Amino acid sequence: MGNNQKINCTVCSCEFHEGEKNQCNLEQITVKPYPDCNTQNPDESVCGSYKCCFTDEEE
Ligand code: SF4
Repeated sequence: MGNNQKINCTVCSCEFHEGEKNQCNLEQITVKPYPDCNTQNPDESVCGSYKCCFTDEEE
């Protein structure tokens, strides 16, 4: 990343998670609201770039 920003992440079920560093190895991610922007709770913000590491095949 050009500005040396890091994405720290502990979601170990994601394909992009680096276990030893607890970091994301993507250059950038997209954060999405779930289920929408009206809950006003912290968990409405989720990683939209998540990809499960347990599925080998694309649909
Ligand atoms: S894509 Fe999202 S969930 Fe996956 S390692 Fe990166 S920040 Fe974490």
